[in-house]
Amino acid sequence: MQKVYNDFFGTFGGRYVAEVLRRPLDELEQAFLEAMADPAFHVELAEARRHFVGRPTPLLYAENATRALGGSRIYIKLEGLANTGAHKINNALGQALLAKRMGKRRIIAETGAGQHGVATASVCARLGLECTVYMGEVDMARQRPNVYLMELFGAKVVPVCSGSRTLKDAVNEALRDWAASWEDTHYLLGSALGPSPFPDMVREFQSVVGRELVEQMREQVGEEVVALVACVGGGSNAIGFFAPFIEADRPKLVGVEAGGRGNGPGEHAARMSGAGVEGVVHGYKSLFLLDEDGQVLPTHSISAGLDYPGIGPQLAHLGRTGRISFTTASDEEALEALKFFARHEGLVFALESAHAGAVAMKMAREGSPEKAIIVNMSGRGDKDIFITAKALDGEKWREFLLREASS
Ligand SMILES: *Cc1c(COP(=O)(O)O)cnc(C)c1O
Repeated sequence: MQKVYNDFFGTFGGRYVAEVLRRPLDELEQAFLEAMADPAFHVELAEARRHFVGRPTPLLYAENATRALGGSRIYIKLEGLANTGAHKINNALGQALLAKRMGKRRIIAETGAGQHGVATASVCARLGLECTVYMGEVDMARQRPNVYLMELFGAKVVPVCSGSRTLKDAVNEALRDWAASWEDTHYLLGSALGPSPFPDMVREFQSVVGRELVEQMREQVGEEVVALVACVGGGSNAIGFFAPFIEADRPKLVGVEAGGRGNGPGEHAARMSGAGVEGVVHGYKSLFLLDEDGQVLPTHSISAGLDYPGIGPQLAHLGRTGRISFTTASDEEALEALKFFARHEGLVFALESAHAGAVAMKMAREGSPEKAIIVNMSGRGDKDIFITAKALDGEKWREFLLREASS
């Protein structure tokens, strides 16, 4: 079968893995190419997207926000209305259907904040697949609500106690499991990164967002669209949202990284618009936040999903070549944007998506009314209530938690 995807994006990407992982990655790539060429797979995927995920998600003209900002029109793609509350399920569903087609009976996944774990566990429950999610011990303690949801869906959540006991250690553990179990197990990786073919595969499954947008722009948007704005953790919502526009030279594509609370090491997660250096981590070459010894640096963001030291290789390449512009929003700007869209549009953005919202607000203010800016609301913010309520509702929220804890 003809190979239609690339291992590399410029100098980034590749498949830098131990020998034991070559077979499963080759097998996966072959199965993926075959599935993409099979109309029956697309029919099955389309059905599940429609009835289980709730696609297409709407494109909303943010009329009140536009009026309040007094500049370009803002439109919002509402990925937060998808089942489990974010775009992550697009990828989880695509890969799980592929795994089933390959005859796998078991799915493993890594998760940091738990959002990818929740989406994966949900899809596995629906498709009748056994599900194991690796999660750092520290993350498990911080993200109890998501651990609860994964277990409710029947997944086994395994605490990872090595290293910093967070996401990067969970990835290592999942890769270790996969090297020993791949004959009956699929590793369902959660963002547009990792060894090839994952970056291509995840982009493909997420690009349903961009394809819907193309159609919705034609039907709903009269103005010239000057920019698409998306937040960037590993990069899956951004690359899916941007996918149909990458080859063109317009509109402007804007990726927003976590500016966190400062510029110093450990204070942010700005790889493209900050301190990222070339490296190979978790099987692919890209830009990472590393110390002088090449060790992965800690990161900070108020949003757990943007708090990742690396970036997908295709985004890194498109940043280098200038097709995608990268910028940051700080913790504080994200909280402001969250409040703004809640108040004006009745929408609670996920904290990750609120970073994109903050930059869209800035661009809209400076733009003219006959232009439009489209922002991807990658998720809704119910999941962040323990962070946002603490930040915005302070003492009352603390009292509530104490009362609940003692009842
Ligand atoms: C996980 C997550 C992100 C960041 O991941 P990407 O792969 O960069 O999309 C962004 N938004 C939400 C709502 C998330 O859950």
